[in-house]
Amino acid sequence: MAQTLPPNLPTKEQLANDNNLFISLATKALKWEEPAEPVRIVGPIYFVGTKGLGVFLFTTSEGHILMNTGMPSSGPMIVDSIRKLGFKPEDIKLMINGHAHIDHAGAFAFMKKLTGAQLAVMKDDVAAMESGDRDDFKYGNDLAYEGVKVDRVLRDEDTVKLGDVLLTAYHTPGHTRGATTWIANLVVDGKAYVVAFPDGAGFNPGYRVAKNPSYPGITDDYRNTHHALEMIKPDIWLAQHNEYYDLEGKRKRAETEGVNAWIDPEGYRRFIAGKKRAFEDQVDEELGAPKAASK
Ligand SMILES: [Zn+2]
Repeated sequence: MAQTLPPNLPTKEQLANDNNLFISLATKALKWEEPAEPVRIVGPIYFVGTKGLGVFLFTTSEGHILMNTGMPSSGPMIVDSIRKLGFKPEDIKLMINGHAHIDHAGAFAFMKKLTGAQLAVMKDDVAAMESGDRDDFKYGNDLAYEGVKVDRVLRDEDTVKLGDVLLTAYHTPGHTRGATTWIANLVVDGKAYVVAFPDGAGFNPGYRVAKNPSYPGITDDYRNTHHALEMIKPDIWLAQHNEYYDLEGKRKRAETEGVNAWIDPEGYRRFIAGKKRAFEDQVDEELGAPKAASK
């Protein structure tokens, strides 16, 4: 008999309870391990990630900054993308991260061996980065990767600087304890741009954000993070997951519109509002609050 039914999709509960199922499905469905074409976004900022994962290069006269590294398998793809753009991976002097999960921090150890670059990480994610995310509050040791030594410990509003690129780190915990939102203030061809890389606002299947919380204080952490992210008014925003900010749509439009295709303050506002709404719905669900009639 011909098989016409689609494969059974796992339930929300299965995804919440089975860490390996969650990661293998996300890896495949969201194309985390498929190579992608690199592209210049604006001024010194280039996308060098995979089809699903946002990895960014900031080029300067003093060497380069790398933000995020994707999955453990992503290292060679990032290296290829940087070379394709005409830059040398060996010129990376500094590395920074959004948060310490395997899909963004998985290849820092590889990149550090290749480049010897210094790694700067928000205080509350340092232990996770150095252990390769062992003892994660949700994943235990299920999504571990090769740990990497942190050279500089960051605190809220610390800055990193290389050449004429300055980035500010905001501590936006929730998704991990040390999740970090980065802001770059650029002037390109006489025009000023605020470029944001929001992090920390999303929760994964199985996170407990209110009742029997995944870690003590997680509810307040998320709410403070939403507030901090609402205060930011970027011209351009990029993120660890490419579908969030529509990399492919903007990349296509940029072929004719140039940098204007990346300008998207309204998309950022909607993204943060959506994360906040999803979080408060989850709080209500965990606490068993009656659903409002029109939500
Ligand atoms: Zn994550």
